[in-house]
Amino acid sequence: MLMNNTKAFADARPALVLNADFRPLSYFPLSLWSWQDTIKAVFLDRVNIVSEYEQKVHSPNFEMALPSVVSLKRYVKPARYPAFTRFNLFLRDGFICQYCTCKEELTFDHVVPRSRGGRTTWQNVVAACSYCNLRKGAKLDSECGMRLRRQPFRPTNQDLQRAGRAFPPNYLHQSWVDYLYWDSELEI
Ligand SMILES: [Zn+2]
Repeated sequence: MLMNNTKAFADARPALVLNADFRPLSYFPLSLWSWQDTIKAVFLDRVNIVSEYEQKVHSPNFEMALPSVVSLKRYVKPARYPAFTRFNLFLRDGFICQYCTCKEELTFDHVVPRSRGGRTTWQNVVAACSYCNLRKGAKLDSECGMRLRRQPFRPTNQDLQRAGRAFPPNYLHQSWVDYLYWDSELEI
């Protein structure tokens, strides 16, 4: 979702999608729909238009401002637990190595190595840089003097939403800001 060309991204006029409680469906990646999908949802009566762009779409007998923020008419209850995926695991760990806190060349480390029966689960896998991963090898952290900054755990979706707030996207339309709460803002 992160686009290098923020202008092209802004020009695409995506809409921020809020749940029926006016909170974004997702922070990271931010829940955005293309304007085409958004208009479709408006016509299917699935969303309310909360805010609009100045740009309009036209057809011979119809004109409509492109929505910049929409909210779902029916509340979608988020699953309590997120899927165990590469992205979600990195997000739980804030995209930093859980041993040295660097952000370079991130990969995964089994806290209890697989060769010793360690399983591939939320509770046994952490984000680690290649260097720490190599250094640790098939040892336990206690055997090589490496310390985890936090014990790995199975996060709830709420935990991941919270973690996602540390990563505001490059581009934010002004009309989205009222519905988003970024950690970086709270620090001011
Ligand atoms: Zn490291």
